[in-house]
Amino acid sequence: MRFIDSHCHLDFPELSSDLARYITNANAVGVCGFVIPGVSLAQSQKLLTFKQEHAGCYIAVGLHPYFITQHQSHHFDALAQYAHEHQGDLVAIGECGIDATCEQLTYQQSLFQQHIQLANALKLPLIIHHRQSHHYIAQAFKQTPPLYGGVIHAFSGSLQQANYYIAKGFKLGVGGTISYERANKTKAVFATVALQHLLLETDSPSMPLFGHQGQINLPERVVDVFKYLCQLRHETPSDIAQQLYDSSCTLFRI
Ligand SMILES: [Zn+2]
Repeated sequence: MRFIDSHCHLDFPELSSDLARYITNANAVGVCGFVIPGVSLAQSQKLLTFKQEHAGCYIAVGLHPYFITQHQSHHFDALAQYAHEHQGDLVAIGECGIDATCEQLTYQQSLFQQHIQLANALKLPLIIHHRQSHHYIAQAFKQTPPLYGGVIHAFSGSLQQANYYIAKGFKLGVGGTISYERANKTKAVFATVALQHLLLETDSPSMPLFGHQGQINLPERVVDVFKYLCQLRHETPSDIAQQLYDSSCTLFRI
């Protein structure tokens, strides 16, 4: 079985000391592709080199709402210019979105609009971060409908919210959240929606799985996320693995 970790921050400093080993270990359990989102202007601009140095890496550029206070007013224009110049090297625009637990909500909203416009202009999907913000994201979609779909990273929410995103052409990112007992609502969604709407991800080095709390998360654990998902689904594991792999390839044109 082959897997793609559709959302991991392999370039983050937490992973740098042993990165080659983490990638080798992931490859050894069948994880052959890694989608690495951009989070800031400077970091996005370094991802091209990162991709050239590490096999199986696919990259996106974006300004993450979590770092909203660090994004200066000229950063988005510079990011957009960079994205136009390197369009062929990008598989998505993001990580962008709205995090209602972070500051400067109005600025987050306008930045998110700009990311949607950029993705539309470049005919790319979006990698969307959400946190207590489904209604803000729906508002943004109403103003600027995304044309090339994308993924709702680390989806958590109701079936109604899931169906809304699916209707807009989005996949739902399935991550380590489902390893926890408390995630019943989200697990019920992943058990219910058609398999073709799901993608596997770890968000490494963040979001450790149950049993690994307090440790850095690793891309090899996308296989553990897969095993938890298999417990929720009626399809065979090999069919699930194949569909999830194909969905990542289709969405990101890998
Ligand atoms: Zn992320």
